[in-house]
Amino acid sequence: MRLIFVQKKGKNLNTAVINNITDIKNTVKEWRKSNCTIGLVPTMGALHNGHASLIKKAKETCDKVIVSVFVNPIQFGPSEDFDKYPRTLDKDQNLCSNLGVDIVFAPSANEMYGENNRLNNTDLTFVYPPFKFTDCLCGKTRTGHFDGVATVVLKLFNISGADYAFFGQKDAQQLFIINKMVKDLNLDIKIIPCPIVRESDGLALSSRNKYLSDEERSWALSVSKALKQIKTLYSQGVTDTNILFDTAISILNSNIELEYLEFRDYNSFEPIKKLKDNSLVAIAVKVGKTRLIDNIIT
Ligand code: AMP
Repeated sequence: MRLIFVQKKGKNLNTAVINNITDIKNTVKEWRKSNCTIGLVPTMGALHNGHASLIKKAKETCDKVIVSVFVNPIQFGPSEDFDKYPRTLDKDQNLCSNLGVDIVFAPSANEMYGENNRLNNTDLTFVYPPFKFTDCLCGKTRTGHFDGVATVVLKLFNISGADYAFFGQKDAQQLFIINKMVKDLNLDIKIIPCPIVRESDGLALSSRNKYLSDEERSWALSVSKALKQIKTLYSQGVTDTNILFDTAISILNSNIELEYLEFRDYNSFEPIKKLKDNSLVAIAVKVGKTRLIDNIIT
């Protein structure tokens, strides 16, 4: 009998998934023997082209690439979507294989934190970035969120021993806080910011876009349209943030609930009254039950 092996399209599962911290550390130790540079791409999975752009940048920059896939319980509040968050590890592994990722690190919450692995864990050593940067924008409604983010990111840096870590500008506040942590704690890692990847109609890619109905998705398009109009007006000389705010409100679909629309200096994160080069315009909205964020940098 002749056996024919057919490789299923897209089923090239070469990238190993490691769940265990000791195994990652041992693998990295082996890599270090041949002086490899290591890149880390931290994610919560449900990978899309936004994540893929970070992975591609990591592949260009480093000899070895680790993608972490971990829905981090200590960055979710009790009424947030931790249980509902999309988990698609097989698909994520497939995408990572196709992009040439060396390892997917997908630990359990127990592996990372032990049994008491929620935001209210008082037994865990946390990283608390400065309150003035964690209590504004997304942190205003997501109490403790950035403490959970900074804590898991520092753990991932330590576990992976990475030389480079890749973060999206889509999460501008997160990127600012991570950069601050790296600087303040003298961490030996270089943070590489990566631009926002959008659908062709402007919607910023997000794992949470999966929650949107077709109708909600059409409303959500007004978010990137409003930001784009701010950029256009700025290029025409309009700098007054009150005027720019009102313009954005007039463009946002009336079914959308605005959480914030803020203007900040991109380097210092201080609020600004007049837009200038290198300003961040950041927005968070609720579309139905789905919370979305987006931003532009002038
Ligand atoms: P997440 O899985 O949502 O925690 O995101 C993991 C990383 O991917 C973060 O650094 C995000 O900023 C980045 N990211 C998410 N969406 C996008 C996007 N549309 N474009 C670029 N980077 C993104």
